Parts: sequence; structure tokens; C-alpha cells
Amino acid sequence: MLAGGVGGAKFTLGVRAALGRRGAPEATVVVNTGDDLWLSGVRLQPDVDSITYALAGVNDTHRGWGRADDTERVNAELQEWGAGWPWFTLGDLDLGTHLARTGWLRDGLTPTQVLERMSRRWNLGARLLPMTDAEADTIVTVRDADGAERDLHFQEWWTRHRAALTPVRFDNPGIAAASPAPGVVEAIAAADVVLVAPSNPVVSIGPILAVPGMREALAAASAVVGVSPIIGGRVVRGMADVCLTAIGVETSAAAVAAHYGARSSGGLLDAWLIAEEDAAAAPDVDAAGIRSVVAPLWMTDVDASAAIVDAALAAAS
Ligand code: GDP
Ligand code: CA
Repeated sequence: MLAGGVGGAKFTLGVRAALGRRGAPEATVVVNTGDDLWLSGVRLQPDVDSITYALAGVNDTHRGWGRADDTERVNAELQEWGAGWPWFTLGDLDLGTHLARTGWLRDGLTPTQVLERMSRRWNLGARLLPMTDAEADTIVTVRDADGAERDLHFQEWWTRHRAALTPVRFDNPGIAAASPAPGVVEAIAAADVVLVAPSNPVVSIGPILAVPGMREALAAASAVVGVSPIIGGRVVRGMADVCLTAIGVETSAAAVAAHYGARSSGGLLDAWLIAEEDAAAAPDVDAAGIRSVVAPLWMTDVDASAAIVDAALAAAS
């Protein structure tokens, strides 16, 4: 599967449960690393950590990010120093992850090797791969009131400004020279089906698809089935609508499907799961050459997510 952070994590829990019930081989999750950043000397991988923590069962389900029962002593001290970003909280346990990761990167391990090592701590029940080993942080270009363009790191735009600054474009500098992380192309080629999680199409799935070689790998996959992150014409949570508007895509299940495109005409998808609320959009999806499947798409708990995965697997077969 291809996945971003919190939506990706909920879906990954469903994949693990659905495959577990089948006694099937484990899933490989190709995770967005466009959200990654350097802060106070450590490397953060928010989407990688969201999925890792969720699979390990140590995530903070209430806040929706970070570790459960975390404290913020180090964060308070960093703020006294005027270090880091005052609007970006780093929990103490979370900082332990970032320190371990940064240390191993400094020792010369690749991001793939670091994630492999970190995955060994818990019995995750899925194999996690970064989309690429290259640093390709997402940069958001916004236009100021005086008309001048300004570049912000994705996290500054998302977390500090809550996506309130109108984006002109999203870019991942360095991605043209990147390649899929070792194992990604092989995992896609070996997969019975590739699932596209109901993650943000622009800033979570977008960077994954922008890695050179990724689209070719997906074009050769057995089957690709996506799940709409848009229900009833609205984002379930987050600010994907702002991202979609910026790239000229309407916030609707059919428009996102058309944006991904049909694999039969050079796009991404063979089938697309849309919510019952969007059942009227099914003919539009089919007309685009993508088989529509109407299903309940609320990931309210692991069973609900697993039922979505069951529907996606049925569509693939
Ligand atoms: P992020 O990296 O933490 O922003 O998370 P993702 O990119 O993986 O997922 C964000 C997307 O998940 C948002 O666009 C939401 O619309 C979508 N999403 C969140 N919860 C649900 C849900 O219960 N069902 C569906 N279909 N989509 C959801
Ligand atoms: Ca994210």
C-alpha cells in the first residue's frame, strides 16, 4: 500500500487485520516522506512515525499524533533556549525516536535501514519502507499580500499556519534525482494488489507518485485499488481540500479519481472505492475508465477499516 500519516495509519491497521484473518502474507507499506524535516538537529519523519506508532499500539489516539502519555519537558527547555519552532511540539518519547533515528543516519545507515531497525522494536505486522532514501521535503509556495511568492516547509505551512496561506504550488526539491527506496519497486512487482490509502492525494500520495520510477512500477503492478479520502464532498479531517484546490482539483471523490487517472490510460487506478454518500458519483468514475465500488468508508475503528480493505481486495480479484 501507499500511505500518508494519520489516514494512512488507520488504513494500515485495517490492512493488517484483514490480512491476518486470511492468514495472508504481510503487507508492505510505502510511506510518504515529504513531511520529513530537520528540527533542532534531529530528523523527523511524521508520517513514518504515525504509522509505526499506530501499528505498535503506542500512538496518542486522542491528539492524533505522537506517543500516548508523552511529556514535554525537553520541549519546554528547547523553547527556553529559543530553539526549534515554538508552534511545533516535540514530546519526550517522540524525541527519543528522533534522536535514535538521527544517530543511525549519522552513523551512515540509510533511511530504509533506519526504518528497518526501528521496526524491529515492535511486532508491527507490516513491513514499512520510506518512499525514497533521498531527502525530498515538501515545500509550499505561497503568495503574500504584496504579490510576492514565498517558500515554506510543508510543516510550517500545515502546522503553524493551518494551511490558511493560499498555496500557489507544492514541490519536492531534489525529487527529480531521487529513486524509490530499495525494495519498493520489488514489493510493488510482487504484490497481489497495491492499495492506495485514503490519504491526502496532494501532499501524502502526491510525493510518493513523484518519485521517478514509482509510476512505472505501479503501471506494471497486478492491480491498483484506491480508497477515497473524500466523503460526501468533504475531507474527513485535515485540510486536503485546500491542497486539492491549489492544484485545480475539486474536493470530490470523482475528481480525485480523475486526478489519479485510470491505469488503462496511463494513470494510477484500476478501481476506486467511494463512500455510500457519494454513490451518485459512480457513473463519473466508471466513465473515467476506473471501476467504482460503493462502500462505507468511515474508518471509525479497526473493524471498519478492515471492512474497507476487504472491499478493496474483492474489487482487485
Ligand atoms: P496525514 O499525513 O496525517 O495528513 O494523513 P493522511 O494523508 O494519511 O490522511 C489524511 C486524509 O485521510 C484526509 O484527507 C482525510 O480526508 C482522510 N481520512 C481521515 N479519516 C478518514 C476516514 O475515516 N475515511 C476516509 N475515507 N478517509 C479518511
Ligand atoms: Ca502527513
